[in-house]
Amino acid sequence: MESRTAVVVVGGGATGVGIARDLAMRGVDVTLVEQGNLTHGTTGRMHGLLHSGARYAVADRASAEECIAENRVLREIAAHCVEETGGLFVQRPGDSDDYFAEKLAGCRDCGIPADVLTGEEARAMEPALADDVQRAIRVPDGAVDPFRLCVANALDAEAHGARIETHAEVTDVLVEDGGVVGVEVEHTSGPGSRTHGATEEDEVIRAEHVVNATGAWAGEIGAMAGVDVDVRPSKGCMVVMNCRQVDTVINHCRPKGDADIVVPHETTAILGTTDEEVDDPEDYPEEQWEVERMIDDLARLVPVLADSRTVRSFWGVRPLYEPPGTGTSDSTDITRDYFRLDHADRDNLEGMTTIVGGKFTTYRLMAEEITDHVCGLLGVDAPCETAETPLPGSERPGDLDAAMARYGLRSPVARRSAQRLGSRTSEVLDTADPNPVLCGCESVTRAEVRDAIDRAGTDLNAVRIRTRASMGNCQGGFCAHRLANELHPDYGSEAASAALDDLYAERWKGQRHALWGDQLSQAMLTHALHAATMNRDGRLEGVEFDAFDAGRETATDAASASGVE
Ligand SMILES: Cc1cc2nc3c(=O)[nH]c(=O)nc-3n(C[C@H](O)[C@H](O)[C@H](O)COP(=O)(O)OP(=O)(O)OC[C@H]3O[C@@H](n4cnc5c(N)ncnc54)[C@H](O)[C@@H]3O)c2cc1C
Repeated sequence: MESRTAVVVVGGGATGVGIARDLAMRGVDVTLVEQGNLTHGTTGRMHGLLHSGARYAVADRASAEECIAENRVLREIAAHCVEETGGLFVQRPGDSDDYFAEKLAGCRDCGIPADVLTGEEARAMEPALADDVQRAIRVPDGAVDPFRLCVANALDAEAHGARIETHAEVTDVLVEDGGVVGVEVEHTSGPGSRTHGATEEDEVIRAEHVVNATGAWAGEIGAMAGVDVDVRPSKGCMVVMNCRQVDTVINHCRPKGDADIVVPHETTAILGTTDEEVDDPEDYPEEQWEVERMIDDLARLVPVLADSRTVRSFWGVRPLYEPPGTGTSDSTDITRDYFRLDHADRDNLEGMTTIVGGKFTTYRLMAEEITDHVCGLLGVDAPCETAETPLPGSERPGDLDAAMARYGLRSPVARRSAQRLGSRTSEVLDTADPNPVLCGCESVTRAEVRDAIDRAGTDLNAVRIRTRASMGNCQGGFCAHRLANELHPDYGSEAASAALDDLYAERWKGQRHALWGDQLSQAMLTHALHAATMNRDGRLEGVEFDAFDAGRETATDAASASGVE
């Protein structure tokens, strides 16, 4: 099979979907190919922090200025994906006064609103903060939903004529006469929504230009085209807690260090993170000591974390890059800036541009820069409008309030649905059919699940990231099979069963290093339920039990071992 387009964008993370949207809005014919589902890479494995820029205000002021500018843009164009939590940079005994002063001055110099709170004021705002927190700088950090934001970008790109292909892996970059002329793609299902068991198919996509937006994988695409892209992937560990122990983003105010941020995210709090260079973005060790480090260190800022329930842990890989010859040995010193690699200039290879580095918060700006560049090459003279044009679901924030009233949105279930759906609330919830809650932890109703299945086919992990179903306290224990039921009657029992297995295995994967205390009891309950009602003790493909560890000792274990209850 062969097709033709003006631009192929490789990579369906924030950067790739942002570029596809921008190109499509400027009238360029664009095809995006992604090897997994949207957000399969780093974008689906990040902290969910909408940076205010304060984190970079001392060491990297250019990044800090970009972050605060884009923070403001995303609050406008993607209000339904952003929660305005605010952030605190807290100082504890032993943390430098000079650094605190530098951070405050840096924020103000970069135009980041920042004011100082005393320890008492900070604790009045966040009661779970440690008693020894001396003071804090308040900044406009936020929480952002990367899944919803990427899907909204992809939807809008499609609405402007783009072709978005997930489960389509680039297996080769086509080079002819010293220039890139397209890519070869292997579909793990046919075009459109994923259906289990579709025949595998190769496609040659010929294009005037190829954009390599594969983040930590950019070196692999570079190698296919015969050029060096020296990405230095760096892993970071994150730990998901059972509830929001804090309502504000809590940062440790110190120069640099691991485990220094807690981000409230939907019904959870996410602790993070580490920074360690790895060889392969798909294959690197995920170890329990990293998880323990997060909890132990961050419990110094928020003591209740030490005995809270840990639901799961996950890792992401930063697409760090530094220009040849820089020679930084410590990955924590590599810049967080982004780079546009123009392979025509750099390697005498026409037809391909790579974008690497950067942050989720600056994805739109990165997309704008690449799109300006590609439009220049193609002779397209159209301005960028992505900073002003709202994403689908966010056009009219007032609609949310109206929808709340219309659907009796005093109920938390409907309020949460409306928060997730934004301006699509009426379209999705306006149904004559019964609309029960299928996922109790996250309050997701059948109408939302059905809507996601209409878009994602049998891929229940894609349904999960669109709706949050199975992402709460029970990690799919009570709802995974209900979600699979919704595939009937459009899909057969084999497809439903395979989709359930995929979702179930994925939910267990994140619990490998989180099994102690209350979460261990919850996990045992889930296993027992599924073993007894669905024969899952006899058929558990996809769950690697060898990768589970022994968990850690809790305060309760220690007390019973010493005879003290
Ligand atoms: C631990 C951690 C925490 C972070 N926290 C934050 C944060 O809180 N806030 C923030 O602003 N930033 C954060 N970041 C940074 C941010 O997540 C990344 O910079 C951003 O998500 C990168 O997006 P991307 O689209 O460039 O790459 P990705 O999201 O990795 O997208 C690249 C895509 O390319 C696809 N791909 C690869 N090879 C192929 C192929 N051969 N064919 C087809 N597709 C292919 C991959 O599957 C992937 O989906 C964090 C990063 C890490 C690692």
